[in-house]
Amino acid sequence: MTGGRSEQTRDVGISRRGMLAWAASGVVGVAAGGLVGCSSPAHATPLPGPSEGQRSDSFSPNAATDPDGMATLPGLPAVSAVPVRARPVYKVHDLLPNAPSNAVALTIDDGPDPHWTPQVLDLLRRHGAQATFSLVGIEAHAQRSLVRRIIVEGHSLCNHTMTHPQPFSRRLPAQIDKEIVQAQSVIVDAAATTPQLFRAPGGDWSPTVLATVARYGMTPIDWDIDPKDWARPGPTPIIQRLLAARPGDILLCHDGGGNRAQTVEALRTVLPRLKTNGLTFITL
Ligand SMILES: [Zn+2]
Repeated sequence: MTGGRSEQTRDVGISRRGMLAWAASGVVGVAAGGLVGCSSPAHATPLPGPSEGQRSDSFSPNAATDPDGMATLPGLPAVSAVPVRARPVYKVHDLLPNAPSNAVALTIDDGPDPHWTPQVLDLLRRHGAQATFSLVGIEAHAQRSLVRRIIVEGHSLCNHTMTHPQPFSRRLPAQIDKEIVQAQSVIVDAAATTPQLFRAPGGDWSPTVLATVARYGMTPIDWDIDPKDWARPGPTPIIQRLLAARPGDILLCHDGGGNRAQTVEALRTVLPRLKTNGLTFITL
């Protein structure tokens, strides 16, 4: 979300099962006697990233994965880092160039929530729409069955940090790393699938955030349609802003972090209207 959510500092122990599953995917390593993400104090220094507007086509995974630190840990699988992006993805076709030309992506952040998420899922099912859920780790840890329902119903998952701290980019690099790794662990544990996407709380990006996300094999995603449902302006403004969506847009909504009755009410109108307008909802 982009505001209105108090910072949370609840400390949830990293899930051993989730980390093992994630390690099996090749993204993090398992060291003897413990579970270790591919992080080290060396990551406390912001990685040299591309300047604004410049793609890092010459990116080398080794440059972003601290080979010295990794070398001290036995039996590590290769790290599946991906190139560091200069900016997050704002448009569907920047991520999925072969997506249908009329595709839009609805992203739903800050859940899962036991009250609001089922209502959103019911609406999506009723209207044959797919969405991408940006999960907060502590919520996913508490609502494992909802995480599974999201997957079973054909939606996709995005890592949205463990505790949703803001301003995210101002956290120490080690904290940024921990927020991403812990969330990934509990989501993998609950969903038995590994998120390939990351969204920064509040869309608050920095070179360090982008480099960390890439180091763990994820793509950073943002949005270009923000109806500001988190501020609860009433369903009508939310509906009007969402109905402005055009092919390729990434829409932002929330199913957690507060009372989302207005969001649910808005989606009840917006989902069928946008489909009638010729748009198709796809997952990122
Ligand atoms: Zn959020």
